[in-house]
Amino acid sequence: MSEGTSPPDAIDPGDGVPDAEAPGTDMDADAIETGRRLFAQPATFVLGAAKIDQVPAAGLPEVAFAGRSNVGKSSLINALLGRRDLARTSNTPGRTQQINFFDLAGRLMLADLPGYGYAKAPKNEVRGWTRLVNTYLKGRQDLRRTCVLIDSRHGLKDSDRDVMSMLDTAAQPYQVVLTKCDKVSGAALEKLTRTTLAEIAKRPAAHPRLMTTSSMKDQGIAELRAELAALARPEQNG
Ligand code: GDP
Repeated sequence: MSEGTSPPDAIDPGDGVPDAEAPGTDMDADAIETGRRLFAQPATFVLGAAKIDQVPAAGLPEVAFAGRSNVGKSSLINALLGRRDLARTSNTPGRTQQINFFDLAGRLMLADLPGYGYAKAPKNEVRGWTRLVNTYLKGRQDLRRTCVLIDSRHGLKDSDRDVMSMLDTAAQPYQVVLTKCDKVSGAALEKLTRTTLAEIAKRPAAHPRLMTTSSMKDQGIAELRAELAALARPEQNG
């Protein structure tokens, strides 16, 4: 039996105790609840942009997701949205590379960047990726954060470092999100966390908090929702 995680709405027993902390994090229950509420709302696929002039007009705060092919990006986006099917593994090598946009309740735009780091990718494909993503990152004023996904089994690779350097140069804030943490031991995860934090500490646009997730075991998903909900357009009252 897997242990699972306690649902966010089970945190506060209604005894009036303020700001109970979610287990294993320094996030308060209010932030977790705000994240749960935002991501429980419907998300719609807006479009896939294969060229920079197809990127939708700005307007909403935006969060992008970047990572090597197979890092678990589609699974993570689907886990955040509580869906199985919205983000597909669209970045299979050889397929058209595009940025897929999802509108979350008119409050946050999610941008799923094409996967990178596929060793056998032809040079012109790599150039196409770099041109599209670099132009997007440089010109996207509403981009609040890019989640750079790193497979817990592999840690940072040079292709991830290249992307982080691109983000540093574009002065676009980013946050490292470890994926598939169910695949590694607690000790290995602890070591990976330490070495990754030491490396990103030197990078100007990197967020100091590392997120640890497993889409399969629903670990760290509520915390990531909370983290991203803080960037969303505020809820309209009435
Ligand atoms: P993408 O290419 O980055 O979009 O990756 P996918 O989301 O398609 O996932 C790639 C592979 O990793 C698939 O076989 C998934 O089932 C697997 N995977 C994704 N997330 C997890 C996770 O949290 N834990 C485990 N064990 N496997 C995962």
